[in-house]
Amino acid sequence: MDGAKTVMKTKDTQKNNPWQRALKQFQSAVQQTKIDPLLVLQLENPDRVMEVSLPLRMDDGTARVFQGFRVQHNNIRGPYKGGLRYHPQVDMDEAKALAFWMTIKNAVVGVPFGGGKGGIAVNPKELSSGELERLTREFTRKLAPIIGPEVDVPAPDVNTNGAIMTWIADEYGKVTGKAHPAVVTGKPIANGGSEGRTEATGLGGSYVLQHLLKKRKLDPKNMTVAIQGFGNVGSYLARYLHEAGFKVVALSDSKGGIYVPKGIESIEAVEACKEKKGMLAGCYCIGSVCDVNNKKAIGAKEISSDEILTLPVDIVVPAALENAITEKNARNIKASIILEMANGPTTLEADAILKKKDITVIPDVLTNAGGVAVSYFEWEQNRKNEHWKKADVFARLQKLMEVATDTVIRVSKKRKVSLREAAYITAVDRIADSTISKL
Ligand code: NAD
Repeated sequence: MDGAKTVMKTKDTQKNNPWQRALKQFQSAVQQTKIDPLLVLQLENPDRVMEVSLPLRMDDGTARVFQGFRVQHNNIRGPYKGGLRYHPQVDMDEAKALAFWMTIKNAVVGVPFGGGKGGIAVNPKELSSGELERLTREFTRKLAPIIGPEVDVPAPDVNTNGAIMTWIADEYGKVTGKAHPAVVTGKPIANGGSEGRTEATGLGGSYVLQHLLKKRKLDPKNMTVAIQGFGNVGSYLARYLHEAGFKVVALSDSKGGIYVPKGIESIEAVEACKEKKGMLAGCYCIGSVCDVNNKKAIGAKEISSDEILTLPVDIVVPAALENAITEKNARNIKASIILEMANGPTTLEADAILKKKDITVIPDVLTNAGGVAVSYFEWEQNRKNEHWKKADVFARLQKLMEVATDTVIRVSKKRKVSLREAAYITAVDRIADSTISKL
């Protein structure tokens, strides 16, 4: 019955343990900088980890138990902040790695939050809406003593959404008697959510890329892009890059992809086709008519979701899962720039290969921080009882992402290190500064 526990055990033995990788990334970056050994230990060890059992009455009267997790990695710079993921493979090491990356990410873009992450080992698609709500409310009752607007602020992540955040805010208010929308972010707009949160991660990534290219005096109009993953992040990124004049030539999802060497004409038409068919494969569009039979007419090719990473393009974007770029495919990457939009898409071995090939990797902790930046705007609006216009949210987001990009580029040039190492050094220096100012 408890399949989640079995998955957790097999995942522990996996070679690519995300927490071990996060620690190695951190250790390689801190070698380049002088930091207090006490702070190193604080960042290598989460402040608090919580694992809870969540017994649930199913609709058919039977009972099951699920495991829930919350990792509060570090709060030197502000309340713990990070998503809740509902997925069968959620476990403590994954939550620790993702919470650690949140601490780094929030410091890189300068929002006053620390890092947290968590979730439930469950496949929510196997639950009815009532079961999902009861499970979420049970999880909230267990989380209530350790979360709060000034303490730890969860948000949506894989398989969680605004409706789930609304249940959490409601249950938190009932349990604690201190109802406040700022206890979670990523809420629907009607319940205190921010304009622009849905688009924020993809849009933030497009700001980072455009700013970096501008600094290198490269014109987006001549640059080809291939994007792996066409969910929230990949689809908005594709839309904004296309709007900015990039030639988006390839897109993929878990079931396959499309490659149109002369450039995809309309991202919206492909999106509508995917919505209808449930997959991208075969979405070859001429105007708004998308059909597999158009393939020849537009000179397109069918590709697998792995092939997309090694196409002859200028920019490759992993925007799907962790560990997409490994030692197996890194040598075959032809792009000169990798824009990491997924969390942890490049393994350590792959990173070393890309460095030797002189490929620019724009790291996840910078590129995908647009989501948490707008979550911070939502939290701020809730606390001030304000509602900002979408154009204002986007203008603030652009400024924040561009300033962070400038900082990371500057540190990378000054220290002669990769952009990833520069991002880590920036974050660790900021956390160290906050530690000192709190003494
Ligand atoms: P999503 O579930 O909306 O979309 C994921 C996409 O990846 C889907 O199109 C899915 O079909 C595709 N996919 C899954 N397996 C694949 C495979 N093997 N090959 C190709 N495509 C595959 O998720 P999302 O919100 O877009 O998040 C994508 C990544 O970005 C995740 O790593 C997530 O942690 C990270 N991220 C998301 C946000 C956010 O605000 N949504 C913020 C920061 C980071």
